[in-house]
Amino acid sequence: MAGIVVVFDFDKTIIDSDSDNWVVDELGASDFFNQLLPTMPWNSVMDRMMKELHTQGKTKDDIQEVLKRAPIHPRVVPAIKTAHSLGCDLRIVSDANLFYIETILVHLGIRDFFSEINTNPGYVNEEGRLRILPFHDFQSSSHGCNLCPPNMCKGMIIERIQASLGKERKKTMIYLGDGSGDFCPSLKLKDEDYVMPRKNFPVWDLICQNRALVRAKIHEWNDGEELESILLKLIDTISLQEGHAKSAQLLLVDCKMETIPMAAHETLPQALPVTQ
Ligand SMILES: [Mg+2]
Ligand SMILES: [Zn+2]
Repeated sequence: MAGIVVVFDFDKTIIDSDSDNWVVDELGASDFFNQLLPTMPWNSVMDRMMKELHTQGKTKDDIQEVLKRAPIHPRVVPAIKTAHSLGCDLRIVSDANLFYIETILVHLGIRDFFSEINTNPGYVNEEGRLRILPFHDFQSSSHGCNLCPPNMCKGMIIERIQASLGKERKKTMIYLGDGSGDFCPSLKLKDEDYVMPRKNFPVWDLICQNRALVRAKIHEWNDGEELESILLKLIDTISLQEGHAKSAQLLLVDCKMETIPMAAHETLPQALPVTQ
């Protein structure tokens, strides 16, 4: 078992869209959504939207069918499966909701690869209406973090995970995210951890502007292909550092595969520079 915990954001990290926007847009309720947005927190808007869709006769099955069509890069599922097979502990921290996330993960056949999903509660009530509640009940008390939306501070979740990890063995965390809500948890990571911000997305901008505040090593990624290659490379690097024989062997195989074409390349004559 590798001593690595990989924490994924969900929207625009695992799937390639925002699940809330995806459902609202696909079910033709964007105008009402945009009207509500300035009047209450996003999480409350989503619960209100589910009421509206229910009134319009849209069922939970309609919502699930839409979710199953959410776009995802073809390398993300293989990346998750490989990370799991290498012994990583995979978790999700997301400001979407449990109903959306579980629907998509079950559909993709990867629900059981995650040991934990930290997100807003989402369930179908007795009327058949989907309810979306805040992860943190901000009506009764504030979580006190001014970087995060009132319903969820992802940084507090990371601190909880850090505290729960056994002290007998050092664990390294890799955090992947794209949104502004992923900045706070990035600040909680330690020197030995890694943050993988999606390039040119809000968390990447925030990290670039506040580099000195981030202790973790930063590895940006653009798309699912890079998510896979960078994540697996980091897992290999960490495993090697830990001196795990099994992971070291994997890296050796990797090196062999890389050095063969590279060595062959070196014996080729150098390409001549193009002269004007
Ligand atoms: Mg996201
Ligand atoms: Zn926070």
